[in-house]
Amino acid sequence: MRIIYSDAHEAHVPRFDLIDGELREPAEGPFRAHAVLQGVTEAGIGAVEAPRDFGVEPLLSVHSRAYVDFLASAWDDWAAAYGGGADALPLARVQHDMRRDRIPRSIDGRLSYFSFDIGSPITPGTWTAALASAHCALTAAERVADGERAAFALGRPGGHHAGVDYYAGYCYLAIESLAAERLIARGAGRVAILDVDYHHGNGPQSIFYRRGDVFYGSIHGDPADEYPFFTGYADETGEGAGEGATLNIPLPFGTGWDAYEPALRRLLAAVRAFGPDALVIAMGVDTHKDDPISRFRLEIDHYPRIGAAIANLGLPTVWINGGGYDREALRRGVPAMLSGFEGGL
Ligand SMILES: [Zn+2]
Repeated sequence: MRIIYSDAHEAHVPRFDLIDGELREPAEGPFRAHAVLQGVTEAGIGAVEAPRDFGVEPLLSVHSRAYVDFLASAWDDWAAAYGGGADALPLARVQHDMRRDRIPRSIDGRLSYFSFDIGSPITPGTWTAALASAHCALTAAERVADGERAAFALGRPGGHHAGVDYYAGYCYLAIESLAAERLIARGAGRVAILDVDYHHGNGPQSIFYRRGDVFYGSIHGDPADEYPFFTGYADETGEGAGEGATLNIPLPFGTGWDAYEPALRRLLAAVRAFGPDALVIAMGVDTHKDDPISRFRLEIDHYPRIGAAIANLGLPTVWINGGGYDREALRRGVPAMLSGFEGGL
């Protein structure tokens, strides 16, 4: 399958990461995309090509204009205020009993308004990298809409924690949701987003929660214990036209293949029952036992099985690069999953 990759992700280099109460070397950095690129190249997954430039307009199929405008200028506004010597971080989080109808004026206020956590720094190159990552996802969706069975968007940063008007969890633009919208715009009646990243994808769930044409299903660390904490529970099943089109399967810390495999079968059965015309996979190999920030126990040998099980759905599939913070798990796990898909079972 084609691999859509741009080195523009190298512009997004956070200086530090708040992990277990300490400012540490970032878990999320350019090494992640480099490791995946190395792995898929070594495994001969397919030809690498650059994304098309779609500009900014397609972002508005998912995001608010106010959010896109904010993100495009956030670094410049931050640098104008503080000189640009440090990454831009928010100071506060809006709570449910506060004003959400007023967008603050200062950059500190807007960073706080448009974010969900403090773990996603905005750097000089964040907008450039995020836009290129969105273009990778859109290009992959176009390839699949044009008739190719699958394409892999090797973008960075990822997308499944970004919402209509907020960034979070190392994610700035909702690239999986953009791909789903593009497939629909190109004629797919129904699309399923399958999220196999370790974390719940609060972004796509929220974006499509009241929609009957996009299914969102996810297996992830139980939000009672794990980020993003406030969404991803089993009783979230969609609302209105979207009732029944969301499926969350939270699993406890320490989950290995024994518990993961039946959850995957259940998720795939739900996708089959939904009857989509195309798939978007929110990938992630942060389910690997060596992942430094996650708590599942999968091994490399399990990833081809996930890929093969997805292939058995027999649907056009857009793969979107996601989480995974161990270099070797990325280098070996991503091509393993894609190889399993291409080989089928
Ligand atoms: Zn993740």
